[in-house]
Amino acid sequence: MDFALTEEQQLIQQVARDFAQQEIAPVAAKHDASGEFPRDTIVRAGELGFMGVEVPEAYGGSGLDTICYALVMEEIAAADAAHSTIVSVNNSLYNNGLLSYGTEQQKQRFVTPVASGKAIGCYGLTEPQSGSDAAAMRTRAVLSADGSHYVISGKKAWITSGPVADYMVMFAMTDPDKKAKGITAFILDAKQDGFIRGKTEPKLGIRASATCEIEFDNYRCPVENRLGKEGQGFAIAMDVLDAGRIGIAAQSVGIARAAYDASLQYARERKAFGAAIGSFEMIQHKLADMKCKLEAARLLTLQAAWKRHQAKHTQQRSTLEGSIAKLFASEAAMFCAHAAVQIHGGMGYSKELPIERYFRDAKITEIYEGTSEIQRMVIARLETGLR
Ligand SMILES: Cc1cc2nc3c(=O)[nH]c(=O)nc-3n(C[C@H](O)[C@H](O)[C@H](O)COP(=O)(O)OP(=O)(O)OC[C@H]3O[C@@H](n4cnc5c(N)ncnc54)[C@H](O)[C@@H]3O)c2cc1C
Repeated sequence: MDFALTEEQQLIQQVARDFAQQEIAPVAAKHDASGEFPRDTIVRAGELGFMGVEVPEAYGGSGLDTICYALVMEEIAAADAAHSTIVSVNNSLYNNGLLSYGTEQQKQRFVTPVASGKAIGCYGLTEPQSGSDAAAMRTRAVLSADGSHYVISGKKAWITSGPVADYMVMFAMTDPDKKAKGITAFILDAKQDGFIRGKTEPKLGIRASATCEIEFDNYRCPVENRLGKEGQGFAIAMDVLDAGRIGIAAQSVGIARAAYDASLQYARERKAFGAAIGSFEMIQHKLADMKCKLEAARLLTLQAAWKRHQAKHTQQRSTLEGSIAKLFASEAAMFCAHAAVQIHGGMGYSKELPIERYFRDAKITEIYEGTSEIQRMVIARLETGLR
């Protein structure tokens, strides 16, 4: 067993760290306050190859491994979680499905612009009445009589990057009687008629990552833009989430690290009762617990990333490792952000420091791409073999 990063992984980590600290961190508070989509820094992330980390260079990406992707996500999230949410959707949820299940023509047309950061992708699984129970979706896709296109009607909810996306990988029922096995995946072009964006949702955290509902009003999707086979959509959605959860685990590690680093510094500098607060046992306990959770979360995340990368060659799944990493790291992020506010006292509650933003941002990691309850269910089912 070797815990050392390769030279390539160290290099990408350093490039991501420099970019995140020099270009994202200075604008994070402004975008959090306004909720404005950070287009300039996202374009820059694209130029650096961070919008398609694992995508082969032939399709506009960087052609790196899943560990590199996790490292990039940690660095960006440590500067600003909202940026890392946008990066994760392009990388994990959008590109991944297309790379694994797309035709050559689909990859050329729909991956290349998104992986190179020239366009934004989004992923539509959730609907107003179905989140955790994704197979209960109601959006319908009906094949036209001449077999040339599908007519899609319905509504998706909580679509990250929905307000700005150029393309969407989405899921709709083609055969409702078959339930999950009647779901099919499609690639939609947002410029086409029938793709209607709702208002941008005001949110607790990750405020700069724009989120909205998308309604489909008789959207005509050419049959060549179906992703995979009819009825394969739910399997595609779950496979993509295996990858996505590793990205969210890495995002959680980034938030936890930012909260921990700030707390460590503050504990050394802030004085009370004539001593640095870091000399008080109760503050030391908090720091020790934060550090343990942060390190464990990072190891679980890198293990899941390693497993996912191996799985590309062995055709195995990394569902268990991804769920464990996502569950543990998201709860570690929430723990560390909560402790960081406490360690900073009144300043932890102030908008003058990013601590309260870490606290608001951390919460989403326990909710999207499968809540903590769903992760526990996945892990327990895989372990027991019972449903
Ligand atoms: C900011 C944000 C961005 C998002 N981005 C996207 C996106 O880009 N694309 C997309 O498709 N979706 C996206 N989502 C949707 C997200 O994945 C869902 O919100 C999430 O899966 C939970 O679904 P829900 O909100 O419908 O909650 P519900 O499924 O209604 O769950 C409510 C509560 O019940 C619990 N629960 C549900 N079922 C069980 C069970 N069987 N056992 C125990 N507890 C259970 C849940 O854990 C939760 O605590 C986003 C959500 C948010 C908030």
